[in-house]
Amino acid sequence: MELKSNSPATLKLIGSVRTTAPEEVPDYVSRAREAQRRWGSVPLEKRLRILPELRRALQAERDDVARLVSLEAGKPFVEAFTVELLPSLDMLKFLEHHAARVLGPERIGLGWFVHKRSVLEYLPLGVVGIISPWNFPFGIPFTSVVSALVAGNAVLLKPSELTPLTGERLAEVFRRAGLDPDLLQVLQGDGATGAALVAADIDKVLFTGSVATGKRVMAEAARTLKPVTLELGGKDPMLVFKDADLDRAANGAVWGAFTNAGQVCASVERCYVERAAASEFIELVVAKTRALRQGIPVERLATGELAVRQVDVGAMIGEAQLEKVHEQVLEASRLGGELLCGGAPRRDLPGYFYQPTVLRDVPPEAKLMQEETFGPVLPITLVDSVEEAVKLANSSRYALSASVWSRDRSKARTAARRLEAGTVWINDVIYTYGLAATPWGGFKESGIGRTHAALGLREFCHVRHLNEGYYPVKTELQWYPYSEKRLKWLKRLANFLYS
Ligand code: NAD
Repeated sequence: MELKSNSPATLKLIGSVRTTAPEEVPDYVSRAREAQRRWGSVPLEKRLRILPELRRALQAERDDVARLVSLEAGKPFVEAFTVELLPSLDMLKFLEHHAARVLGPERIGLGWFVHKRSVLEYLPLGVVGIISPWNFPFGIPFTSVVSALVAGNAVLLKPSELTPLTGERLAEVFRRAGLDPDLLQVLQGDGATGAALVAADIDKVLFTGSVATGKRVMAEAARTLKPVTLELGGKDPMLVFKDADLDRAANGAVWGAFTNAGQVCASVERCYVERAAASEFIELVVAKTRALRQGIPVERLATGELAVRQVDVGAMIGEAQLEKVHEQVLEASRLGGELLCGGAPRRDLPGYFYQPTVLRDVPPEAKLMQEETFGPVLPITLVDSVEEAVKLANSSRYALSASVWSRDRSKARTAARRLEAGTVWINDVIYTYGLAATPWGGFKESGIGRTHAALGLREFCHVRHLNEGYYPVKTELQWYPYSEKRLKWLKRLANFLYS
């Protein structure tokens, strides 16, 4: 069957791919397993040689790839370039510098067993399934695919059914860099293909997507105790204290809420501002929101060329997402929230555009304050104290990221440490998601495990502990036969080591 891809900004068809039927998945797994046996036995230093090749291939194609992402996901070119291509290149560089150390053997101390030594070895898992969403259709899978590969695995990638062309393009970059095509195969299709991949005879699933699907993935994986890394949704709070640089905070709030049309797992989805700073902050936010240029980010000309337009906010991915966002905004208004700007779909544009929207005083029981919105909507709530802001920020089942805004660093750090979130920024938002050196992941229902950095790389490894002795002694102190003499020695040792 064919899977068609339409631009969410123009609604025009941009291409199609062949879908992978669930029954075909076992064949993909067999090819991957065969290729992984060869790849996994290649020494690490040799495997790492793919990295500079990939960097060259990606540098050569980066503008083309960013244009495709912009077209297929409806986002401004600059966002595709900055938040998808740069992080991918950064991951390649990070791995070139650090993968040998992170994946290499690690010596560990053994206390009183001075005649022994232990080494941790980081081994490939085998075949890894990577299931990804549409919101960063290149950057999210690329950084994980390359990490899984250098760790010695084969990868089966299931891109979102809403961005299949970007998934194909990603695999093409690896092929151009010389990777065996069976080491990275793309399975196209919707949730049924994803579910078949999770159920298949693979060794790990890295899933990025919604909490609801993440729970289904984990339940299926539990049947065979398949390890999972889950990167799920967020409802991320921004805490603005009265001593913050309000102009910077307003710039951060507007970018944090509206970049990628608010379809970022770490978007600012709730803003708590101290009452004393509220009117100035809100005025700045509304003025900056009104100044945003929204429109079609990239269009195919009659000549076939792609023309990039300078816009700040693009389209949402589809009708269902747009309607869900609008319903949340309408309910928030019905429950007493005050609409300050935006609040409706853009009927004057062909695709799924929603006006950047700011509200205030939305009651906490509204869906807009409880559930992930994943759209360009910023609800601002006034609070009387730092204490109240922290309490409200933590009152969520999500805990992906959060930010604290204050000129007083010590106060900001104290508040930051009380926030339940996988990442907390002081006077910034989102940006470390794009850095390979910093780990990414959440607490609570925002997920399990980490991607990026050393922690993320090791999620693609088995850890083998190898232990050996230096000297050919006939027995050990803790072995048979037990005797008073040995016990005396053990006690002396305990006194020496632990007193
Ligand atoms: P989604 O859960 O609908 O789909 C994600 C992927 O899972 C798609 O490829 C889909 O085809 C596949 N899928 C669907 N049903 C499946 C099943 N039963 N088994 C296996 N795979 C299945 O999510 P989405 O709408 O594509 O993405 C948006 C969500 O992703 C948001 O909630 C967002 O917060 C989250 N997200 C999280 C992060 C993070 O790093 N924490 C990053 C980006 C997006």
